[in-house]
Amino acid sequence: MSDIFQAAARQEYQRAATQLKSGKDANAALKKSYERYDNLIAHSFDESSTKPACKAGCAFCCYYKVEARAHEILLIKDYMSKHFSAEKMASVLNTVTANATLIRALTPEQHLTTNVKCALLENNQCTIYPVRPFRCRNFHSTDAQACENSFHDPANMEIATGMIEEVAILADAHTQGFEAATEQTGRDNRIYDFNTALLEAFADEQTLKRYQRGKKTFQQALEII
Ligand code: SF4
Repeated sequence: MSDIFQAAARQEYQRAATQLKSGKDANAALKKSYERYDNLIAHSFDESSTKPACKAGCAFCCYYKVEARAHEILLIKDYMSKHFSAEKMASVLNTVTANATLIRALTPEQHLTTNVKCALLENNQCTIYPVRPFRCRNFHSTDAQACENSFHDPANMEIATGMIEEVAILADAHTQGFEAATEQTGRDNRIYDFNTALLEAFADEQTLKRYQRGKKTFQQALEII
């Protein structure tokens, strides 16, 4: 592990652990962590001689398999509950339900090579952008054409979209620092399939209580082992 990785992971771990210890749920700490992450990554992009090809309206990566931790799902639920109209919520949850049914019928390998349009994607924009999970934040590409090619040929794992190494290292380090802090403070740090977990978060009011008690948050959602 590089010194840069270790320093970034340690720094985020220390900050996040301090904030997590002072709150029942992880929402406030996670929002602060996302702010630090965005500043760190913006600075890293500025410093890099290679620039990402990503821009608003390009959303080929929003058809990839999405995984998330319980604290990320619960923050997204909170955000949707505060920002979505009843009509929009019903429409999104219909799509989440359809996606969850489709995903349950796929093997993990099939899911990896199947395009599933994210239920939170509208007009090629993420409707929960400020609270999108680390998995989505961490993805970037230096080759938009490769992203499009991958979208049209999702089973082709040879297509490389090209990430900027130093940015990817910092992104990964920050993410792992936060996740280590959640684990250290006794919270559920399992990885869940995004759609099946989001569906359960809305269907079962006990999910937040289980998270706050350090239990397995989602009992029906697909867990990624
Ligand atoms: S949560 Fe947002 S960024 Fe992530 S896949 Fe869905 S629409 Fe895209």
